Amino acid sequence: TKLTNDDVRQMCKDLNVKFIRLQFTDIFGVLKNVAITVEQLDKALDGEMMFDGSSIEGFVRIEESDMYLRPDPSTFVVFPWKPREGGVARLICDIYNPDGTPFFGDPRYALKRALAEAEQMGYVMNVGPEAEFFLFHVDNEGRPTTKTHDKAGYFDMTPIDLGENARRDMVLTLEQMGFEIEASHHEVAPGQHEIDFKYADALDMADKIMTFKLVVRTIAQRHGLHATFMPKPVFGINGSGMHVNQSLITLDGKNAFYDPDAPMGLSKVCMNYIAGLMNHADAITAIANPTVNSYKRLVAGYEAPVYVAWSGRNRSPLIRIPAKRGMSTRVELRSPDPSCNPYLALAACLHAGLDGIKKGMTPPPATDRNIYEMTLAERQELGISNLPENLSEALKVLAADNVIKEALGPHIFERFIEAKSIEWDRYRMQVSSWELDEYLEKF
Ligand code: ADP
Ligand code: MG
Ligand code: MG
Ligand code: MG
Ligand code: MG
Repeated sequence: TKLTNDDVRQMCKDLNVKFIRLQFTDIFGVLKNVAITVEQLDKALDGEMMFDGSSIEGFVRIEESDMYLRPDPSTFVVFPWKPREGGVARLICDIYNPDGTPFFGDPRYALKRALAEAEQMGYVMNVGPEAEFFLFHVDNEGRPTTKTHDKAGYFDMTPIDLGENARRDMVLTLEQMGFEIEASHHEVAPGQHEIDFKYADALDMADKIMTFKLVVRTIAQRHGLHATFMPKPVFGINGSGMHVNQSLITLDGKNAFYDPDAPMGLSKVCMNYIAGLMNHADAITAIANPTVNSYKRLVAGYEAPVYVAWSGRNRSPLIRIPAKRGMSTRVELRSPDPSCNPYLALAACLHAGLDGIKKGMTPPPATDRNIYEMTLAERQELGISNLPENLSEALKVLAADNVIKEALGPHIFERFIEAKSIEWDRYRMQVSSWELDEYLEKF
């Protein structure tokens, strides 16, 4: 059962909450806060809290800057790391225009629109993310470095790892905030970790991903470490991804991807969904891999996908179908990284999958061989293409993909393309140390 406004009022009293953070996420995936005292709670719950939209990147111009926050009471949670006495809680908010209509620049609204469309077709989207991150040391001035001092690898048990203590604390904190943690482990690269939580419906999960990142950073800081979700902080070792496990559930609670009588146990709806994701994979990349640095992760040799293909057997392609069936039947999209805006990334995936269902798309045959061992000619014969190689390429494909454009809506689409094109330009004009090493003496 979901919390109501009355529950929130009662819990604030019972738990002695003094401050409430009204949270929302901007187009670029950054968590924003407006702090109020509990005395203003009624006003906030009535949707009367205003903020200046022009001070948020990508929102609105000064002339039209009044925006309203409408808290979603079901997102109420008390931060466990603050003292009980005069505690701090948060509410995640939807953003509304002064005329009472939802704001099209609000990423949470973009996801809600996608979910409404899915519901009309008879589906709920379930999502289980696997967000990876690095824990680095800070220097004497408290600035983050890219140094780790652990030598641990995937699943290793190492008593010397400072990161292990921090990760344990993160898991406990997340559990106190209502997360059901399924697994937490050291990843392949030094200093790299993963915490997996149980899948939930897409809106709840997008909220949870934002909360997760906040918790990981906050707890890392308390352990004197810096947590980063930057996709590829260190050259030469694995980057951090955020695999998105996704499935559709029918309104009567059955997994729509499972059909025991179909080949591989995958329903027609599942095959359509896979085809939709593959069809729009390049444009999804712009949303799911939205930084210049994202494309340093999407290279061969580091467990990240490079080719648009799917498989039930091996882990190298873009889309993997994990072996479990029944309620666990799901499609794992392996390209997204944790620098993405989860609301927009999930909206883009869902629109792509639903497009596959609406148009009855069929995916190419599954690729069960290691794609990295194929020649270009072999890949071409099998119709296996590459994901975009950089942000600029991805933005061009996005601009040409009407389904993913529609997933964002015109407001977010325009602001996203504009800001990201500027980001790309700023990057490409830089002269990097790689170039100096390569050319300074040679020419
Ligand atoms: P991997 O084998 O890729 O490392 P993990 O076990 O780390 O996978 O993560 C699996 C994720 O998939 C978990 O978050 C889990 O809750 C989620 N999951 C399980 N069943 C479903 C489902 N039906 N729909 C969406 N996600 C699911
Ligand atoms: Mg995993
Ligand atoms: Mg794994
Ligand atoms: Mg992993
Ligand atoms: Mg995975």
